[in-house]
Amino acid sequence: MDIRALIKGEVLSQKAYPVDNASCRIKLDANENPLAMPEELRERFAALLASVPLNRYPEAGSITLTSRFAKTFGVDADQVMIGNGSDELIQILYTALARSGAEVMIPVPTFAMYRISGLNAGFRVAEVPLDSQFDLDLAAMRERVASYPPVLTFLAYPNNPTGNCFSRERIEAILREASGIVVVDEAYFHFAQKTFLPLLGRQENLVVLRTLSKVGLAAMRIGLLIGPAPLVHELNKVRLPYNLNSLSQAAAGFYLDNEEAFLWQAAAIRRWRGELTSAMETLPGIHLRPTDANFIFFSCDFDADRVYVKLKERGILIKNFNVPGTMRGFMRVTVGTREENSEFVEALRNILTE
Ligand code: PMP
Repeated sequence: MDIRALIKGEVLSQKAYPVDNASCRIKLDANENPLAMPEELRERFAALLASVPLNRYPEAGSITLTSRFAKTFGVDADQVMIGNGSDELIQILYTALARSGAEVMIPVPTFAMYRISGLNAGFRVAEVPLDSQFDLDLAAMRERVASYPPVLTFLAYPNNPTGNCFSRERIEAILREASGIVVVDEAYFHFAQKTFLPLLGRQENLVVLRTLSKVGLAAMRIGLLIGPAPLVHELNKVRLPYNLNSLSQAAAGFYLDNEEAFLWQAAAIRRWRGELTSAMETLPGIHLRPTDANFIFFSCDFDADRVYVKLKERGILIKNFNVPGTMRGFMRVTVGTREENSEFVEALRNILTE
């Protein structure tokens, strides 16, 4: 039996999401918070996790957390959904909106899961290249909306991997003019400190995504969707009843109880981003893009693949985006601790000048 003959074409033609599992000493490839939880918090966290009844199913729909997060966002509880990472919320949106011929519009380059989950759900994926400044190409997007109205549009704010926030006016134009749901994915909110949340009441096709992955809880897989109540009502029919496990629910509650500690770390990362930027600006042949995120997107005049491999040999892992075209020579480095950043800059300096 040819198992492959049973699998749909959209799946067959893809490669599984490439995660570099290399165990490097300095891991600056996945936009994680480089800091562990402070010792005192970690002890309380461990005690909390130990008290979770593992013989029981989790609270279905994470309803306690949903109302707690709703309060912090200043919205009603029926406007919030918690997911197993924002990855799951993206998938839930696709599952609910998938219809024959449905199209999703995404600017590219952007976060890979928008395309992958779209294809898996049978969507036509309309990729609209960003302009030369990595901002939205409004004319091209308008053209796309006019010729084949997308039911869904994903805009990462700031964008991954380019690091910049698209201009607000262009996003607002898409929100006004696009026929379908427009998702503003604020995964890097804690580093950009800019949000579309205040538009929620006024713009009924707006959905905002947030995550706790970038502020220190990537392992716990906690994502948040904030949108119009009638949409959240329907999405709840798609969500698996126990999508967020009990340990993750406990972790999300712990986050809310101790948010200042996590925000303090985010503030440190914002400072280190400034220092890393200044240090990288002194490197020959390296060109940085402006960033609002916890990573820096940069191009190098040298063979990027070689630079990437040489860094890896020195135990430093970053993400390589080098492909022919507009991404030629581009790489992305996550802001690490001060020590990690210095080691990265010195290694890069040595590689570039050797
Ligand atoms: N959105 C963007 C723009 C991202 O870069 C990422 C993580 N790389 C995610 C969503 C996924 O976040 P989560 O860990 O919550 O699934």
